[in-house]
Amino acid sequence: MSVAQNLNEIKTSLPPHCQLVAVTKTHDVGKIKEAYDAGHRVFGENKVQELVAKYEQMPPDIQWHLIGHLQSNKVKFIVPFVTLIHGVDSVKLLQEINKQATKIDRVVDCLLQVHIAKEETKFGFDDEEIIEFFRTSPDKDLAFVNVRGLMGMATFTDNTELIRQEFKHLKKLFDEFKRIRGSHFDILSMGMSSDFRIAIEEGSTLVRVGSAIFGQRNYNH
Ligand SMILES: *Cc1c(COP(=O)(O)O)cnc(C)c1O
Repeated sequence: MSVAQNLNEIKTSLPPHCQLVAVTKTHDVGKIKEAYDAGHRVFGENKVQELVAKYEQMPPDIQWHLIGHLQSNKVKFIVPFVTLIHGVDSVKLLQEINKQATKIDRVVDCLLQVHIAKEETKFGFDDEEIIEFFRTSPDKDLAFVNVRGLMGMATFTDNTELIRQEFKHLKKLFDEFKRIRGSHFDILSMGMSSDFRIAIEEGSTLVRVGSAIFGQRNYNH
C-alpha cells in the first residue's frame, strides 16, 4: 500500500474528535512529500535537529509537532515554529520554553508527558508529580506557554489488556485535570501504530502514527 492509501485508511477510521500526527522520523523529505501531496499537514518528529531540518525543507503550511524528549538547550531552535510540544516532563523545561517564547512574543502550546508505562526508560511526570503540578499550577505565571493537555506512551508489549489499563489511567487523569483547567485543556495524545485503536477506544484525541503510514523505519541511514 502507498503512503496515501495508508493515510486515507487510518484517517477514515478516526473519530471526528481525533487528530492524526504523521510521524516522519528517519524518513526523507521525498517520503514526507507523498503524505503532503495526499493532503496531510500535521507531522511529528522526535528529534530537534531532524525537526528543524525538515521544517526548512518542506512547505510552510505544515504543522510540526515535537513528540520526543526535549533538552532545555534545544528549546530555542523549535520555539519559533513548532505547533505543539508533546514531551514536557519538568517544570524547569516549561520555564525554559516560556523564556524562549517570551523573547519572540509567541505563545507555544505544550503537553505534559505522564509516565504510564511499566518500563523504567520512558520520560515523564509520575502520578504524584502530575497531581502536584495541577494542585500548584506552576505555569500560572508563564504567559507564553499554554498547557493544552497530556501525552503518554504505553508499555511496549503484546499484552493489550495492560496497554488498555495504562491508557484508561491517563484518560482518568486527563478528565480530572480538565475539570480544573476548563475547555482549553483539550488534547490527550496517546496511541502509536501498534496501539492507536485501543487508545481511541480509551478516549485519545490525538494519535501519533509512523510505521503504519510510512512503513518500517531503517535506522542505518
Ligand atoms: C516514533 C514515535 C511514534 C510513532 O511510532 P510508530 O510505532 O512508528 O507509529 C509515536 N510517538 C513517539 C513519541 C515516537 O517517538
